[in-house]
Amino acid sequence: MQTLPKPASSSTDLSAVDTMIRRRKTRSVPVGSIFIGSDHPVVVQSMINEDTHDIEGATAAIRRLHELGCEIVRVTVPSLGHAKAVAQIKQRLRDTYLDVPLVADVHHNGMKIALEVAKHVDKVRINPGLYVFEKPQESRTDYSDQEFAAIADQIRATLEPLVISLRDQGKSMRIGVNHGSLAERMLFTYGDTPEGMVESALEFIRICESLDFHNLVISMKASRVPVMLAAYRLMAQRMDDLGMDYPLHLGVTEAGDGEYGRIKSTAGIGTLLAAGIGDTIRVSLTEAPEKEIPVCYSILQALGLRKTMVEYVACPSCGRTLFNLEEVLHEVREATKHLVGLDIAVMGCIVNGPGEMADADYGYVGKTPGFISLYRGRDEIKKVPEAQGVAELINLIKADDRWVDPE
Ligand code: SF4
Repeated sequence: MQTLPKPASSSTDLSAVDTMIRRRKTRSVPVGSIFIGSDHPVVVQSMINEDTHDIEGATAAIRRLHELGCEIVRVTVPSLGHAKAVAQIKQRLRDTYLDVPLVADVHHNGMKIALEVAKHVDKVRINPGLYVFEKPQESRTDYSDQEFAAIADQIRATLEPLVISLRDQGKSMRIGVNHGSLAERMLFTYGDTPEGMVESALEFIRICESLDFHNLVISMKASRVPVMLAAYRLMAQRMDDLGMDYPLHLGVTEAGDGEYGRIKSTAGIGTLLAAGIGDTIRVSLTEAPEKEIPVCYSILQALGLRKTMVEYVACPSCGRTLFNLEEVLHEVREATKHLVGLDIAVMGCIVNGPGEMADADYGYVGKTPGFISLYRGRDEIKKVPEAQGVAELINLIKADDRWVDPE
C-alpha cells in the first residue's frame, strides 16, 4: 500500500510553529523621554479629563496616570488659552514630579492652537478630518479635481508651520484619523470606508515628508471593531508598499464601559498586536482614565509583549478537580502576585495538569485527595498536604532564590 509522505510538521508538533509575535518594523519616534516604534516595548497611553485651565487638577491627574504606568499622557486643548495653560502644567510637573511625556489633542481649525501648544508638549495630535474645516454644502454632490486640489493647498499651507515647528524642536505628531470625522471630500471620493481613512492619513503624511519631517505616528480609530481592524491593516499594508515605516497608535473609539468596553478594546487592539501591528495603545473607556491602564497592561501581558505581573495559568476545574480551585488560586495569587516575571500554574489534578501547565516556572497540582504536588517546570519536586501547599510553594521559590518580600 502506498503511504503518503509525512508532512514537514504535524499539527501537534508545536516546536516547529513560530509562536513569537513579530512586530512590523518601524522607525523610532520620540515623545519626550519615551520612544514609540518596533525597537521599543509597546507604549501605554491615556488621556486626562481635566480642563487644562485647572493647572493643579490637570497636573495631579497626569501624575496619577503616570504613577499607574501610563507612559504618555494626552490632554485636550480646545482654545488658545488652554494651549497656554499647558506650559504651566508641564513646568509644574517638572518642578514637583517628573517631565511626563505629554501629547496635546488639537481639533477644529486648530492651527494657532497647535502652534502654541507645540512649544509646550512633546507631541501634537491632529485630526486630518478637522484640522482644516471644510464647511459642508448641502447641495454638493461632488468635488471637482480643482476643488480637491484647492483644499489640499489650503491644508498644506495650514499644516506647514506646525510641521516646521515640531521638526525644528525634534518633537512629534500623531496623524489621528477617526472614522467618524472624515473630511467631506474624502467621503465623496472614497466613501465612509477604510480606504478614505487611509487616503486621509497619506495626504498629511506626504505633506510632512515633503518638509523632511518624519516623527510621525498614525492612528485609524473607529468605534466598530471590524472597521478599525480593516483600516489599520490597510494602513500598514499601504505604508509597507510605499516604503513608509511610521509606527501605529491603536485604539477603538467610544468602546463604552464595563466588561463589554474592555472586550471590544481587546478584540480590536489585541487582534492587531497579535499580527505584529501596533506600537502604542490606548484603551478608551467611559470610566475614569485610571481604569484604562490595567486593561492595556493585561492585553500586552496576555500577548507576551510586556510582562508587568505574574502570569497565572489555571485550569477551569472539572469533575477531577481535587481542591477548591478558585479559593486556592486566590491564595496563591495573594502570596505571589508581587513576583513579577514568574509564571505560576494552579491545576486541579495530575491527569492533565502537569502537561497543560504551559511551561510555567512553578506548578501547584492536585495529587490525591488532601494532597498536592509542587512542580518546578516539568519536574515534580514534592507532595505535601493541601493545608501546607501555599507555604511550601513559597519555600520552594525561596530555595530557588527567586523570592523577594512584598513591599
Ligand atoms: S487539569 Fe485536571 S482538574 Fe483541571 S480541568 Fe484539567 S482534568 Fe480537570
